[in-house]
Amino acid sequence: MSECVTAERYCFLPGRDPVQRNVRVNIRSGSTSSVKESGIAWDAGLVVASPANAHDHGYGIRTLGFGCADDALESWIANLRLRPRTDPYLETLVAFGRLAKTGVGITMHCHNSLNVDQLVEEASAVVRAAGDVGIRLALSCPLLDHDPWTYGGPDQLRASVTPEDWSVLEPLIPRYGSIEAQLQAIEEIARRHQGGLVDVQYGPIGPQWCSNALLEAIAEASRGSGRRIHMHLLESPRQRRWLNERFPQGIVTYLDDIGFLSPRLAIAHGVQLERREIEILSDRGVQLVSNPSANLRLRSGVAPLSQAAGLGLDVALGLDGTGTDDDQDLWREMRLMRMLHGGRRMEPDYQAERVFHASTVIGRKVTGFGSSTDLTLIDHDRMCEDFLFDDIALTEILLTRMRAQYASGLIVDGNWVMREGQLTTIDFDGACRELLAQARADVPRLQGERKIAGLLHSAIRQHYQAFE
Ligand SMILES: [Zn+2]
Repeated sequence: MSECVTAERYCFLPGRDPVQRNVRVNIRSGSTSSVKESGIAWDAGLVVASPANAHDHGYGIRTLGFGCADDALESWIANLRLRPRTDPYLETLVAFGRLAKTGVGITMHCHNSLNVDQLVEEASAVVRAAGDVGIRLALSCPLLDHDPWTYGGPDQLRASVTPEDWSVLEPLIPRYGSIEAQLQAIEEIARRHQGGLVDVQYGPIGPQWCSNALLEAIAEASRGSGRRIHMHLLESPRQRRWLNERFPQGIVTYLDDIGFLSPRLAIAHGVQLERREIEILSDRGVQLVSNPSANLRLRSGVAPLSQAAGLGLDVALGLDGTGTDDDQDLWREMRLMRMLHGGRRMEPDYQAERVFHASTVIGRKVTGFGSSTDLTLIDHDRMCEDFLFDDIALTEILLTRMRAQYASGLIVDGNWVMREGQLTTIDFDGACRELLAQARADVPRLQGERKIAGLLHSAIRQHYQAFE
């Protein structure tokens, strides 16, 4: 029966649900029935709910591949201009395929295109890629119109470069489409793609890159359409400082005043959040998506998650294009989340069940797929081959040992996406080869771009050194 998978162990939500032994799991509903026969060949040692990657950017070619090494966030962003020009379909096909191979069936893709004229077309390519891989896609469509390169505007950099270098940089200052044009593009994307395995969302990149008029227009549009908003907020210490200057009443209070805060909003990072801000966000039903390894790699710090949990703020988990080993392994990210926030007391400040609640229940809410019952199959025997006891807590097993290589299957919306470690839907290795060939063909252009990125990088570094 192709509608069922037989599982030696089944636990939809570790830490909440009991582990059932020897059951058939209906792959559409996640419901179970017991299997009495002996000698049955099990399809899976362990079946759990597939976690959601609740914040990401769909990097097929990962950042280090084009020389964008870990750094403080602001100067790291300068090197993103070294991203090779590739086909957005192929780029995200590889990114989504890589994720699906780890057993993750839902992703929040924050699209990085800055050109409103291409956005509708690029969004179609991204949607097609997710559909071809077979995963659920939350598509956060970029919105920005303010202060490129530096908080306070690109002119701030003028003092950090020679007049000759400024004459090279100045013509490259980004220009943005009107608020109306940007919002209309998103309405068009939603008209074409909203529904099924796709949830279209507003994606203001961050308040430091949005004018007040844009933030207010997004709040109003979301109220009218019911569409969700996904936005970076208070990631680096420099953003904290700049936003304090720009919004003397406090950025969170400002967002509250304009009706931006609601259960339809998820904020990514929130590393610099303060207690009063967490209380307001929690009261308004906002969700926080934490990105522990990205926050460490870009030297933003450690988010106040145990405090957020204590104040009732919903927390989800996302990779933000990274992972501790640059490998998009959400299982390791779950482990890091627990270790970073466990504290030093006899009782942990951040309990194991919170990690699973974050990566499944709240992750599904953030991505707009609250009721999905997607399943990940895990090679339990390989992970636990040296166990002396059969009753070791599943939360401990997963948070201590689980990693991408033990994911053996992925079922999304009742369909097999990955089986025995291989995608059933696309030729992943072929797509990787083709993407890399496209990227390498762009290297001659990138050689020139490296000089500009170097100029911008050192100007930004110098500017913020004075700022600190
Ligand atoms: Zn991000």
